[in-house]
Amino acid sequence: MTAGVPLCAIVPPYVLDRLAEAGHEPAVHSLALDAAHRAARLAPPPAAAASPDLNRVICDSGHLQHLPGRTVRTEGRPPVSDASVNHAYDGLGATFALFSEAYGRRSIDDQGLRLDASVHYGRDYDNAFWNGHQMVFGDGDGEIFGDFTACVDVIGHELTHGVTQFTAGLEYHDQPGALNESLSDVFGSLVKQYALHQDADAADWLIGAGLLAPGVQGVALRSMKAPGTAYDDPRLGKDPQPAHLRDYVHTAEDQGGVHINSGIPNHAFYLLATALGGPAWERAGRIWYDALTGRRLPADADFTAFARATVAAARARYATEPSVADTVTAAWAQVGVSSA
Ligand SMILES: [Zn+2]
Repeated sequence: MTAGVPLCAIVPPYVLDRLAEAGHEPAVHSLALDAAHRAARLAPPPAAAASPDLNRVICDSGHLQHLPGRTVRTEGRPPVSDASVNHAYDGLGATFALFSEAYGRRSIDDQGLRLDASVHYGRDYDNAFWNGHQMVFGDGDGEIFGDFTACVDVIGHELTHGVTQFTAGLEYHDQPGALNESLSDVFGSLVKQYALHQDADAADWLIGAGLLAPGVQGVALRSMKAPGTAYDDPRLGKDPQPAHLRDYVHTAEDQGGVHINSGIPNHAFYLLATALGGPAWERAGRIWYDALTGRRLPADADFTAFARATVAAARARYATEPSVADTVTAAWAQVGVSSA
C-alpha cells in the first residue's frame, strides 16, 4: 500500500469510471481531480485547537481547485446567502453533535480539532472527500449528481473517515478498507438519524438520499437495509453491493472493492440496530463506536476481527444484558460472518 492518508471520496471510482467511459465530461474531470488528490502527499493534520467546543470554518473555493479558499462563515456567525455554505456548516455541526452527545467524543480527534470545510470546489465536481485534514465538497454536475453539501449523512460519512484515521486507522484496501467505508456509512447514517430523532425502524438507512439528480434511476448511493438496490441506471450502472459474505466481490478496482463489500458489514449493523430497536445510535452505535475506538482493533482487521471486537464491546458495555451480545453475534451470522 502507498503511504499517507487515502482519499476518502463519497462517490466510488467505478461509478465515475463508467460515466467517463460514456463520455460524461464532468466525470472525466472529477476523476482527474480525484487522482491528483490521491497522488498528493498530504501534510499531517494541524495541531488541535485544544477546545472541547465546536469550532467550524467554512471556505469557498469559488469553483477553482484551491484549498481551502476564502473564509465565508466561522463558528457562531449567522447563516449566509449561499445555501451550500450553510448546509456544510450545519452538517459539520450535526456530526459533531452525534459524536459529542452520544459518545462523549471531542470532535474528530477527541481533542477538539477544528472542523474545516471547503464548498464549491472545482467546476461540476462530482464528489466530496475528506483529505486527511479537511472536508471538500463539489457542486455536482446537476445532471447525475446534485450539490454534495445537501446530504447530512454524506458529511457524517466523510468526517467519520477522520475519526477512523485518529482511532483504529483501518487500512484502506480489501476487508479493512471495506470496514473503514462501512464505519463511515454507519456513523453517517447515525448522524442523520440523530439529527432527525429517528428510531431504527423509521430511518431510511440510505447513504446519499437526494444526491442523485432528478431523472437518475435510483434513490441514493448505497442502502444499508438492502445493499445492491440503491440505483440501477443506464448511465450509473447497477449498485454492486453484496449483503452477504458469500457474495463478496473480489476485484482489483476500488482498492479491492472497499465501497462494494462495505455492504456486508453495513447490513450487519442494520440488522443489529433494527433487532435491538429504538434509536440506533444508542446501543448498536455505542457497540460499533466502542469497537472502533477501543484500541484493540488492528489496522488490518478483517470482517471476522471486527465482528469479534463488536461482540466483546457488547459484552463489556452491556454485561448485565447478555442478550445484547447474542444479538450482535446473530446479526453477523446473518451476513455470513462468524464472530466465534
Ligand atoms: Zn468513504
